[in-house]
Amino acid sequence: MFDENCLFCKIIKGEIPSEKVFEDDKIYAFKDINPAAPQHILIIPKIHIESLDMMEDQHKGLFGEIMFRASQLAKELGFNKEGYRVVANTNDFGGQTVHHFHLHLIGGRKLTWPPG
Ligand code: 5GP
Ligand code: ZN
Repeated sequence: MFDENCLFCKIIKGEIPSEKVFEDDKIYAFKDINPAAPQHILIIPKIHIESLDMMEDQHKGLFGEIMFRASQLAKELGFNKEGYRVVANTNDFGGQTVHHFHLHLIGGRKLTWPPG
């Protein structure tokens, strides 16, 4: 379930502090330490899945809940109407730096497109 060397597994276990915004039995969400916008939340599964590239058939429900949680949190935090972006950086070319799947939920300002 956990990877001993994984930063986000340590955050889930409370070994590294984080600013929690949501938690249930399957999902943990917390503020990004280096926000790219006024609102920047990371939503992660409590089980260690390295990236979207490692998603399997058995994970479909879990990933659906993570996407649902992004939608709910944007509403609860009040930036849904203006709009926001969800991003899953995947592997090297995708710019992934922490190898525990996370959905970025970014909002609170007008975002540009395309990304770099
Ligand atoms: P990636 O580049 O893998 O898509 O995103 C990793 C994200 O994790 C980055 O936005 C980075 O700021 C965030 N991050 C890295 N270390 C920590 C940490 O210790 N605590 C928190 N809250 N966020 C972190
Ligand atoms: Zn992990």
